Amino acid sequence: MSGNKETIRLENLVIGYETKTVAEGINASLNSGELTCLIGPNGAGKSTLMRTICAFQKKLGGSIFIEGKELSDYPDKELARKIGVVLTHRPQIQNMSVEELVALGRSPYTGFFGRLTEEDKRIVAEAIDMIGITSLKDRMIQNLSDGERQKVMIAKAIAQQTPLICLDEPTAFLDFPSKIETMQLLKKLCREQGKTIFLSTHDLELTLQIADRIFLMQNGTITSGTPQETAQSGALSSFIEREGIIFDKLQMRVKISR
Ligand code: ADP
Repeated sequence: MSGNKETIRLENLVIGYETKTVAEGINASLNSGELTCLIGPNGAGKSTLMRTICAFQKKLGGSIFIEGKELSDYPDKELARKIGVVLTHRPQIQNMSVEELVALGRSPYTGFFGRLTEEDKRIVAEAIDMIGITSLKDRMIQNLSDGERQKVMIAKAIAQQTPLICLDEPTAFLDFPSKIETMQLLKKLCREQGKTIFLSTHDLELTLQIADRIFLMQNGTITSGTPQETAQSGALSSFIEREGIIFDKLQMRVKISR
C-alpha cells in the first residue's frame, strides 16, 4: 500500500524458550495502515511470537526493530507509548468500571496512580465512543459478556494512543457477527488512523477477506505476504489441505468434500 511505512521489522529472529526453539529464520515486516493477521496450526508458535514482539518474553536471537530502534533498547514507558497489547485471557480485574479500565490506557502518560487531565478524559471518552460502548461505560467489568469485554480492551488500547496494537486472538470466544464487527473495527483503525495492527487468529476465511497481510507460521518459520500472495505460493494449501479439505487458490476459499 502506498504511503504506508515499515513500523516493525523482524530480522533472522529466533523465538522460543530455554529448553526449546519454537521458530527461527523469521524475516518479515509490518507496515502502518495495515492489518496483519498471524495464522497457523496450534502449537506453531503464534503466542510465542506475539509475546516476544510485545517484550513479554526474550527473543533467542536475531533482531526486532520497532520504528527503526531495537526493541530491547526501549525503556518500558517509551515502549508503552509505542505498542498497545490486548490479550485474550479474561483480565483479572474486578470492581472496576468500563470507563476506569479504558482510562488505564492513559497510564503511560500519567503514571498508574496519576490524575487524568481534561485532555486524558477527552481521549478516554473518544475511545469509548469510537468502539460504540458508551452505553456500557458505567458497568462493572465482571458483569460484561466476552464480546463486550473484548471491545473494552480494544478501547483501552485506543486510549493508549500507540501507533502499534498487538492482539492475541481478539476474535476467540466471540459469536460470528461480533468476530466480523471486531475485524472491521480494527481494519478501520488501520485505514483511518494509519495504525499498525497485528493479531493472531484461527478465523481463516475472515482473515483471507479482510487482512492486508498474512503471517503464516508453520514448520518453525513464517511465510508472509498479501492473502493473494500467500495463497498463490501454495503456503496456504499446505496449511489447510488434508483429506476431504481443499483450498481453492482462485476463489480463496476452503472447500470441504462431503
Ligand atoms: P500457538 O500460539 O501457535 O498455539 P505457542 O506459541 O503457544 O503456539 O507454542 C509454541 C510451542 O512452544 C509449543 O510447542 C508449546 O508447547 C511450546 N511452549 C509454550 N509455552 C512454553 C513454555 N513456557 N516453555 C516451553 N515451551 C513452551
